[in-house]
Amino acid sequence: MTEQYADVIIDISHEKVDRVFQYRIPSELMKAVRPGVLVHVPFGRGNQDKMGYVVDISDRTDYPAEKIKMVTSVEDKGMSAESRQIRIAYWLKSQYGSTTIAALKTVLPVKQKRKPLEKKKIVRCLTAAEIEQAAMECGRKHQKAKERVLTALQTEEELPYELIRQKLNVAAATLQTLEKQGYLKIESENYYRNPVRVSDMRESRPVLNETQRHIIEEVLAAYCAGEPGVHLVHGVTGSGKTEVYLGIIEGMLAMGKQAIMLIPEIALTYQTLIRFYRRFGDRVSVMNSTLSAGEKYDQIERAKAGKIDVIIGPRSALFTPFPNLGVIVVDEEHESSYKSESAPRYHARETAIEIASLSGASVVLGSATPSLEAYYRALKGEYRLYEMKERPGGSMLPAVHTIDLREELRQGNRSMFSRKLQELMLDRLRRGEQTILFLNRRGYAGFVSCRSCGHVMKCPHCDVSLSEHRNGMLVCHYCGYQERKPTKCPSCRSPYLLGFKAGTEQVEEAIHREFPKARVLRMDADTTRKKESYEKILSTFADQGADILVGTQMIVKGHDFPAVTLVGVLAADLSLNRSDYRAGERTFQLLTQAAGRAGRGDKPGEVVIQTYQPEHYSVVFAARQDYGGFYGEEIAYRELLGYPPVEHMLAVLIVSRMQEDGEALGKEMTELIRKEMGDAAGLRVIGPTEASIGKISDLYRHTFYLRHGDYQVLVKAKDRMENFCRERALKSQTVQFDFDPINTY
Ligand code: ADP
Ligand code: ZN
Ligand code: ZN
Repeated sequence: MTEQYADVIIDISHEKVDRVFQYRIPSELMKAVRPGVLVHVPFGRGNQDKMGYVVDISDRTDYPAEKIKMVTSVEDKGMSAESRQIRIAYWLKSQYGSTTIAALKTVLPVKQKRKPLEKKKIVRCLTAAEIEQAAMECGRKHQKAKERVLTALQTEEELPYELIRQKLNVAAATLQTLEKQGYLKIESENYYRNPVRVSDMRESRPVLNETQRHIIEEVLAAYCAGEPGVHLVHGVTGSGKTEVYLGIIEGMLAMGKQAIMLIPEIALTYQTLIRFYRRFGDRVSVMNSTLSAGEKYDQIERAKAGKIDVIIGPRSALFTPFPNLGVIVVDEEHESSYKSESAPRYHARETAIEIASLSGASVVLGSATPSLEAYYRALKGEYRLYEMKERPGGSMLPAVHTIDLREELRQGNRSMFSRKLQELMLDRLRRGEQTILFLNRRGYAGFVSCRSCGHVMKCPHCDVSLSEHRNGMLVCHYCGYQERKPTKCPSCRSPYLLGFKAGTEQVEEAIHREFPKARVLRMDADTTRKKESYEKILSTFADQGADILVGTQMIVKGHDFPAVTLVGVLAADLSLNRSDYRAGERTFQLLTQAAGRAGRGDKPGEVVIQTYQPEHYSVVFAARQDYGGFYGEEIAYRELLGYPPVEHMLAVLIVSRMQEDGEALGKEMTELIRKEMGDAAGLRVIGPTEASIGKISDLYRHTFYLRHGDYQVLVKAKDRMENFCRERALKSQTVQFDFDPINTY
């Protein structure tokens, strides 16, 4: 029997978790020693007895075998929070590919020395009625920032200082003035984050409708019956999903359980936070990217010690080590930000399901436009599916106009705005209502289309659009196919075969030209580089400080602007032409979410979708708000071509100093897989080819793809390639793995 070695970390609260020590496993302990298990080991010169966690097992060692000490014994203490975390780290490493250290660092908070934090809060000094009076006064004087603070204080006696500063975007000087005027007091406290203390009277708790009650009861009943399971809530925007999450979490808390609530960072708004604070008071905490490593560590300690029961946050909140986890909610589960962009490249949805199954917890996924992955499994019966088709207030879904941009050109309209959109924008300006113009710029990835007939240059082998490279070649990033860019459209011979390049700045200029009186705000990666500017633009727009908001996909997320009655999507097909099999899905999601922004108040909304491909199913079904119709078309396409979720895909990215090295390594690895894993029937190896961005920071990038119906076959291939790379001791190349990638390379 071959020797086995255990990688052990002695102290996980140590500042560096990358001190891993190797021990030999005695044969009688082979079965018992597993990742996550607590073991006794001899440590240091005096062979002092210490305890440590096993983080990995291998049959190789980099030290002379005779120098390695032996594991003494296994400590059987059941499954502690730590051992569960380590099991998860090991799972991340094996399912997604990464080093042990990177996986541990994803899961374990690293303790850091820091000064005790001083946290400030704002306490109101007058009665709610007096504050309301003062807020109205400020409103009349157009003191918007003061009005926002006072309005928030009408319902809350206390608010965290940072929440006001960041989420309400109020300057420190404004708060000092309000303090001087006697409206409020700014107080300091010495412990970490004291969430809002809420006056229970004021808590707005709608009477749940039949559907909402049914979902909450079903989820809790399944949990109590010992079948926690995965539940998918498909509900149109504004259908009351958040109330359902609140109800489920409340039920879990009543049973002494804890809850993790995942929200994409960009949708983590003040309005959402306050709803959770109101319901659960100081049992809630927030995790987000503005917290320092030290603050994150504190949160984790509080969770472990049972001082909080609910954590809200993006992806990383998933690793909060609650002792009695009852439910993980993943809101907007289709969001691509749930996929990690660095190794281990885990997906929060899949990881939530794994964590829940280790903890006996339920998972609730929610979305207005579920990912193909989630819906596919729900239809297969792996998840339970619930539909919420109506908005409780009865507010109407908007009327949608689809405009054919080819026809506009034929009619001589060269503006970015179709005649219908111009007419409706003018109408809104006259009535003092607001408009959002949405430019789906993420789609601009060098695709080439004909301005006369809409023809898109596509790969003859793959059904994805070709990308224009600077050398004038059109390249397929899936199979490596190349052709020279034609001078005329192959379909109609028009010479207007162009890459699409309109940006938000050009849109802003066009509005100034065509509607000189309109007040315009622009929101994109350039105007929001600073964190506060994002909130500032949104709050200015919410205060009706502008008539038109122009932006990229960041404006379609989770914000309620009751005065917006018109949404224009300037070029819906931009995202359709990405060289990516998820293009149709993304377009459908973006259009549906964008349309959901119109008419959230009591006035009905209208949506204008401008497109070169009005007949494309993503556009047609989004205009009808018909998820089922879209899903049917899209899944048929994935089935035909063997794309996820029907089959699984592993992208391998090779980064190298020398172009030849990357190319050669790609060839060697694909040959190795073809040779050694040829018996895994149905394994497809595609590539290698140069990546779509062939060079970044002077490093060359090559890529290839593996596809198979069984995820574990791809894991096996990854393990084989990892071994190969280790044996070769690569120096000038690195290899990265990405399972079921969100973006292509
Ligand atoms: P979603 O999360 O699906 O977008 P929300 O839970 O935010 O929906 O609900 C949208 C709006 O409808 C909120 O203002 C919420 O307070 C309100 N709402 C939710 N459920 C009900 C209900 N049963 N009765 C009345 N209003 C409700
Ligand atoms: Zn191709
Ligand atoms: Zn053409």
